[in-house]
Amino acid sequence: MYAWFVRSVRAGDTHLAEEDWDGYNLVTPVCESTVAFSPLNREPIEVCYFDEQRCLRCLEATRPRPKARLAAVR
Ligand SMILES: [Zn+2]
Repeated sequence: MYAWFVRSVRAGDTHLAEEDWDGYNLVTPVCESTVAFSPLNREPIEVCYFDEQRCLRCLEATRPRPKARLAAVR
């Protein structure tokens, strides 16, 4: 599972990363695996309180894919 981690208070700079975090090491955001950061929050956040803080690229990367629709041909 993923949780939210605050990199800065700028809009869109709260990212999703693996929820399993020790509260000490850097976290690696889903949207950019090469840029680990030290989050401002001390606990993983399950629900981001402010929509504008959420990273849209993380949201897009973790959105469940809709199943392909099959056309019925008779
Ligand atoms: Zn992100």
